[in-house]
Formats: sequence, structure tokens, C-alpha cells
Amino acid sequence: MNTPLNTPPSTRLRAALEAAGDDRIVLDLAGIEAQYDTLLRELPGIAVRFAMKACPVDEVLGRLAAKGSGFDAASPNEIAQALRTGVPVDRVHYGNTIKSDEHIAAAHRLGVREFATDSPEDVAAIAVHAPGSRVFCRLATSGEGALWGLSRKFGCSGGDAVRVMEAARRAGLTPSGLSVHVGSQQMTADAWRDAADRLADVLAVLNRRGIHPDRINLGGGLPAFGYLDSRGGVLDPPIDKIFAVIREGMEHLRAVSRVPLDFVMEPGRHLVADHGAIRAHVSRLSTRHREGEREHWLYLSCGKFNGLYEMDQLQYRLHFPSRPGADTVPAVVAGPTCDSDDAYAHEHNRVPVPGAAASGDPVWVLSSGAYATGYMTQGFNGFDPLPYLCVDHEQG
Ligand SMILES: *Cc1c(COP(=O)(O)O)cnc(C)c1O
Repeated sequence: MNTPLNTPPSTRLRAALEAAGDDRIVLDLAGIEAQYDTLLRELPGIAVRFAMKACPVDEVLGRLAAKGSGFDAASPNEIAQALRTGVPVDRVHYGNTIKSDEHIAAAHRLGVREFATDSPEDVAAIAVHAPGSRVFCRLATSGEGALWGLSRKFGCSGGDAVRVMEAARRAGLTPSGLSVHVGSQQMTADAWRDAADRLADVLAVLNRRGIHPDRINLGGGLPAFGYLDSRGGVLDPPIDKIFAVIREGMEHLRAVSRVPLDFVMEPGRHLVADHGAIRAHVSRLSTRHREGEREHWLYLSCGKFNGLYEMDQLQYRLHFPSRPGADTVPAVVAGPTCDSDDAYAHEHNRVPVPGAAASGDPVWVLSSGAYATGYMTQGFNGFDPLPYLCVDHEQG
């Protein structure tokens, strides 16, 4: 079977997948640029700081930088990679609340003057190792409605945020902003409404205490369109509603603040996921019996350790270009390694795959452009990281 291509890969992507004789991940630079343009059209006035971890590929970063994007970096190495695009350093912030003294000092040496934070300990370290910098405090969110909640490890309560910002002011830093992250692949507009409300409450308290943040960072979490959920159901994020609620939230925050506000977003997945696809191949379609029942397993050439790290939380649409219209069998989909986590999580949800699938058949794994290249292991079980290929207007 061929999964309906209801977020069809672009002609460019399709041509590159068809031409590929070997496994690789293909990234459509023009598609990523178009996604960036759409985002700016939907959210006028937003400055984008692309979350590098979603696709730390030089060609992608270079295109985004040329369009005016900045970067959300999480370590000195990411900062250095961002700067290699030629982006001005004031468009790069250190968005990771977790950083050692050494890494704060290294970022400061590279010229970074804007740091995320969520604790007085981190503020004290920034004051010593990056004196005079601007800090923005990350508020915790519930993470509800997202495939990955990100709710416990990062962010503080409103009360703590006020204490953190006051500590920053006392330490000679500029308490310049507030940030949130509503959770990755956030599927509800309500999450952004809730985030804007939390931000507004803290902003009002800070303003009353004479602290006037002038920048609101709405974080990442914007969804991709082409995934199936971990049970194979279609994910259909209400993107128009999400954008409308974000615009309303921006207006609300502007009304609350005593000073003009700049708005920043840190999309990762949303800009790249649907503009990348993996050309993999069938390792084997096998049949075994468990408790008397016949069970099919489709082993792909790539899996959790080389390109499909997120396969335990979602299912990718698979396309079998050499078996159009073939009869299907329901199969558990898994990667090629000797690790039992290297598989779609819900074994009971079988994926229809061509019953005649043979070793070597090409398989396209769609919407796999986010959290793929950075998450590959250096040859776990001897399976190499996938090479990548970028395509562009001219090639399509
Ligand atoms: C990972 C991350 C992002 C991007 O998240 P997406 O869900 O991919 O948009 C943005 N900001 C921060 C601080 C992150 O850690």
C-alpha cells in the first residue's frame, strides 16, 4: 500500500527521493524558506530565532539567516555554528536554561549577550561570566496538548520568575524578557491562550515593581502537518486557530505592558519537518507466530538511531514507490538494530504495508525533516548515520 500523500512532498523532494540510489535524508531548502515566509505572514512583527536542534544543518541555517532569521542556540558549539552563517551575533541567544559556568563564559566570548534563565543560581552565574547581559526568564507551562510536554525540566512559576528577574536586576543584568515553551508539536490553541495569560500576569507584577521587560519570547511548539500519532491516527493541527490565538495573545500582552514589546518565536519542527523526507529501504518483511497468531514485522533500514528518533511517539507516513496499489498486510514497523525500543511504540497498531515488500525496496519516510540529523548515533550496532542531501529551486 501507498499511504495517501496528503501532505505531498514537493516536486523537488519527490524527484530527489526517486533519484536516490541509497539511503539518505533529503531536505528541501526552498520549502523551508516558504514555510518561514508563511509564518511571518501569519504572525506579523514576530522575529524568528530558529531552534537549531531541530535541524542543525549548515545549508538550512544559512538559508534562514539570509532571510533574516536568528537562532536559538543551546551550547557554545551551536552558537559557533550559528555564527558561521554570518548572522549578526545579536540575532543569536542562548536559549538553554541549563548551562555550566564554562559554557556561559564561552558564549560571552563569542559575543552573545542574551541568555534564557529560570533560577537564581543560573542568574548568579550569568552575572559573573557574562556580566551586563540581558536575561529572559522562562515560565513553566503545563505542556498539555503537546506530543512532548517539556513541562518539568524547564521554566519556573510566576512567583519564582519575579524573584529571578529581581535577582537579575540586583546582579547588574538587564531583566529584559519573559519566555515560554508550550510543548513540542502542540496540538491545541488553548495552550497558547494559557501561555499568554501566564505571561501577562507576571508582566503586570514585574511592571508594578519597576521592572519593564521589552521582549516576549513565545518559544517553539508550532506543529508539523504530516505526522500520524503513535496509534496511526491522523494529526490535524488547527493551525489557523493557533495563529489567531497567538495574534490575540500578542495584543493582550501589548495592552498589559507599560513599555512597547518586541515578540520573538523559536520554531523548530514547524519550519523543517514537512520539508524533509528519508529515502530508506526495506530490510525485511518477516512473518512469525506469537501465541498462535501470525504477525508481520517490517524492518526498515533506518530507525530510532539513524533518523527516526521520534518513532516511539509518532508514526511517519510511509510510501513504497516500487509497489503502487499493492495488496497490503498489517505489520509492526521497526528499525534495523538489536534494540527493542527501535520500533513504533504501539505494537498493537499495525501499519498496512505491501505484502510483497522485498529486501531492498525503497521506502519514503515522509515529514522526517525535524529532529532527525541531530539525533543520529555514531553507528550504533554498526548502522551509519544517514547522509543528507539538500535540494533547491533550480533542481526541481
Ligand atoms: C527545542 C526548543 C524549541 C523548538 O521546539 P519545537 O517544538 O521544535 O518548535 C524552541 N525553544 C527552545 C528553548 C527549545 O529547547
